[in-house]
Amino acid sequence: MDALMTLQQSTCHRILIVDDTPANIQVVASALHEDYEVLIASSARKALELLKREHKPDLILLDVMMPDMDGYTLCGQLKQDPELADIPVIFITALSGSADETKGLSVGGSDFISKPINVAVLRARVKTHLALKQHADLLRSMVYVDGLTGVANRRRFDEALQTAYRNCVRHAKDLSLLMIDVDYFKRYNDYYGHQAGDQCLQKIATALSSVLHRGYDLVARYGGEEFVCLVPECDFTSAQRMAEALRAAVLALDIAHADSPIAPRVTVSVGVSTGRADRCHSPHVLLEKADAALYEAKRQGRDRVVATAL
Ligand code: GH3
Ligand code: MG
Ligand code: MG
Repeated sequence: MDALMTLQQSTCHRILIVDDTPANIQVVASALHEDYEVLIASSARKALELLKREHKPDLILLDVMMPDMDGYTLCGQLKQDPELADIPVIFITALSGSADETKGLSVGGSDFISKPINVAVLRARVKTHLALKQHADLLRSMVYVDGLTGVANRRRFDEALQTAYRNCVRHAKDLSLLMIDVDYFKRYNDYYGHQAGDQCLQKIATALSSVLHRGYDLVARYGGEEFVCLVPECDFTSAQRMAEALRAAVLALDIAHADSPIAPRVTVSVGVSTGRADRCHSPHVLLEKADAALYEAKRQGRDRVVATAL
């Protein structure tokens, strides 16, 4: 859902023009600047610097013949970089042979526009490729979002865990996992109906998300009525505090649960595991420990936090 909103809001697309000839830049930029945010780089090297610094553009218009590094080489490099590979590249070229086109397509280019530039053709191609990019972005984001709650799904979590683990190993930092399971949720469904159960899970997902503030913390639906929070660079004390805050946030929703043996409202149990990534054998160990802590929280009576440090 977040991804959908981002796409709808980003009406002003950014286009990067890479060309060593000021007159060409002038023609292309003046054809596009009213509808798009235009960035300019006068060489492949400057384009690479700009791509490291600025927000990513949605499209790159790339001159083929440039001194130092030509457009094909730059395109090939961009397509090797996972951060940049998704940006479509349109070559702008005076070369019109099929061998040149084949070369451009083989290094990952999406299309060609020939010089001298026809402004109407340029605008039409740009519009088409931006629309394709927007669709591709939307599909990519949907692959990672849980359909019911709008938080990250299991696939996203699994990938984020691997990345976070590697980063925490590199920086010798703690990594914390918090597993959250709704208490007596089967009874909730039986008493209020499955649809009410779905709404309850949506509210819980929103409440959990509201507790995590840092950009690289992640709430995901782990499955069924179970959520997991991935909190990199978070020590044991902070993780325990965060787990209590998550539990409190769900309590504060004050969702009636008349059939719960332990409270008149919906509660959750939380299992926490914290470890220095370089000392755990694998992210799976952290997951197992968080799961075991959650099991212990259930055993002790539910509506509580149990935490383990590795
Ligand atoms: P415990 O306190 O031990 O966790 O008990 P519980 O009843 O919550 O656990 P159990 O695993 O027995 O039941 C989980 C229930 O969660 C059963 C299932 O119907 C419900 N559930 C799982 N996914 C969904 C969902 O997407 N929507 C709804 N409404 N219910 C779901
Ligand atoms: Mg449960
Ligand atoms: Mg469960």
